[in-house]
Amino acid sequence: MRILIVDDEPAMHESYRQCFTTSRSDGNETALSAMAAELFGDDDEEVPADSAADEPVITFDCTHKMQGLDAVAAIQASLESGERYSVAFIDVRMPPGIDGKETAKRIRALDPDINLVIVTGYSDFSPLDISRAAGPADKIFYIAKPFQAEEVIQTATALGHRWQVDQELEHARGLLAEKIGQLEEQQHELAANESRAIHMANHDSLTEAPNRLAFLRMLGQAVKGDHCFAMAMMDLDRFKLVNDTLGHLAGDELIRMVCQILQQNCPEGGFVARLGGDEFAMLMQVTGEDEAVMLCERLLKACTISFKVLGHSVQGGASIGLMVVAPDTIRDPIDVMRRADLALNEAKRQGRGIVRVFDESMDESIRFRRQIEGGLSEAIAKGELKLVFQPIVAREKLEITGFEALVRWCSPEYGMVSPGMFIPIAEESNLIHELGDWVIDEAVKTLQTWPGQYVSVNFSPRQFRRHNFVAHVVERVTHAGVDPNRFQIEITETAIFDNVERAAEILFKLRQMGFRIALDDFGTGYSSLYNIRRFALDCLKIDRSFVDGMGRERESAAIVHSIIHLGRALGMEVVAEGVETEAQLQALRLAGCSHVQGYYLARPMDAEDALLLAEKGVLHDVAEPALEASNGTHG
Ligand code: C2E
Ligand code: CA
Ligand code: CA
Repeated sequence: MRILIVDDEPAMHESYRQCFTTSRSDGNETALSAMAAELFGDDDEEVPADSAADEPVITFDCTHKMQGLDAVAAIQASLESGERYSVAFIDVRMPPGIDGKETAKRIRALDPDINLVIVTGYSDFSPLDISRAAGPADKIFYIAKPFQAEEVIQTATALGHRWQVDQELEHARGLLAEKIGQLEEQQHELAANESRAIHMANHDSLTEAPNRLAFLRMLGQAVKGDHCFAMAMMDLDRFKLVNDTLGHLAGDELIRMVCQILQQNCPEGGFVARLGGDEFAMLMQVTGEDEAVMLCERLLKACTISFKVLGHSVQGGASIGLMVVAPDTIRDPIDVMRRADLALNEAKRQGRGIVRVFDESMDESIRFRRQIEGGLSEAIAKGELKLVFQPIVAREKLEITGFEALVRWCSPEYGMVSPGMFIPIAEESNLIHELGDWVIDEAVKTLQTWPGQYVSVNFSPRQFRRHNFVAHVVERVTHAGVDPNRFQIEITETAIFDNVERAAEILFKLRQMGFRIALDDFGTGYSSLYNIRRFALDCLKIDRSFVDGMGRERESAAIVHSIIHLGRALGMEVVAEGVETEAQLQALRLAGCSHVQGYYLARPMDAEDALLLAEKGVLHDVAEPALEASNGTHG
């Protein structure tokens, strides 16, 4: 413990020295400790006097100065070295230098913690004055001259002790402040992390636009509001093509560009979110449906431009499904979203690039589809399915060469359900396989009653994609003891062009085994006529729409003619489907079509009627002259 003593009288210094040495040399340490214990309390009051020797003893290290300025310099030095004084005993009158008051004042200015003890004879000072100059008051004390040794030691001990405690406290405070600082920093960091996490949870990382979660929250507020609003759901047309042909980076870039366009073109107060993939959703306040449609058409137009994506030019295009919500009508945001989604599906189905507003019929059809899906799975087991057969007739003598097997569902609940309705539903679920197997078995069974015609069975793309398709069909047909020559597989271009290599291989195998292969609905897909050569085919079936358009549009007639040409050049049969009139039949015969099929010749019929017709072998009901006319033309 460092103590500073400043007094101009050497004798006084001697007295101080005696005080402090006595306290140490005469074994007074015990007394000192006892004093400290008495002063500052002791945990164990029963401690015997001699065991107090174990107590930490304060030892004093005194610095003696004769003049105020020297004392001030000593304080300055102590602050620099870090070995600070706890107490300074200051004489009041110290000629010729500065007096005690000034000394105290200067020391205080340097060291705010030191305890000052003013040592004075008589009343030659004003305590208030000194306090004012060198306060605070609780760090200034007075001892009168002449003093008792005990008095000095007691004061030094008490103040030294207090100083030490203060220092420790100060230190602890410092640590605490540091800790608080760290905590505050951590809290800042946490808050920053939290807001980053919140941002990430609510934003799409690719476009930085709000995501599905954020959109649903906004939508939740919108349905509770008292304003009419519109939710638009947008999907890019042909986006998959961009991804597949130009790569994902290009796809990402296009998404970002479109997002920006939407944000720029969305009306003020609108909200644009990216739901995922190439799907965006917008919320807009509108006065009604007309305004909503107008705004959406504007958005579509803005996106229907040629984009420059990573050096490639990409034609933009999109479809929008729109749901307009009047206040207090729909309360569930999910419901709004579902309807906008249904409208979007409808827009895409209707050829893309358009805005479709939701209407109840969309919901109805979805519900119906679900019911159909449920009912269909039981229909097979309950024997509600049946096959009908439509003759495929040779042009020349209207000889019946085969029958196309067409499935029917006679549902006790829905009546006669068209395959156009339930086949796509079965396609979407795995039901198509079970249904397809039933059709094969049934067709093969019926075929065996006919004298020689083939049966033509439709296979949907999903069936064709099935693993082990060839083995599966072969097993079912040959197991029944049927010559594959009498079994024709009808597939569409979609099935083939999904995976050209695989399709070519499958068709080749099947054909080698003797199966007949027909390409159904030909002309509606995207395959070039030229590509057809790669596939082992027996027959092209011209789609009904071309036959129908033949008499009206040049294009249809041209397509029919070129398909017939191609088929003949490649040695294939060409079946024109959907022949409904005498005129069509004539035109097709003139064009050289080898086979015809359609209501004009015969409607699809039950197995019994098909058997009668098969046994007869030819259609007699159709006018003979037509037959001759055509024969005449083609020699
Ligand atoms: P598709 O393969 O193009 O079958 C021809 C469709 O045209 C049949 O409709 C047939 O009844 C109809 N049709 C025949 N002649 C005429 C005509 O002169 N005029 C008109 N307007 N239509 C005619 P259906 O039976 O309703 O079948 C629709 C579609 O369902 C079929 O089209 C085929 O893709 C699919 N389908 C039918 N049966 C099966 C099946 O067993 N399996 C699979 N996977 N699909 C089937
Ligand atoms: Ca067909
Ligand atoms: Ca067809």
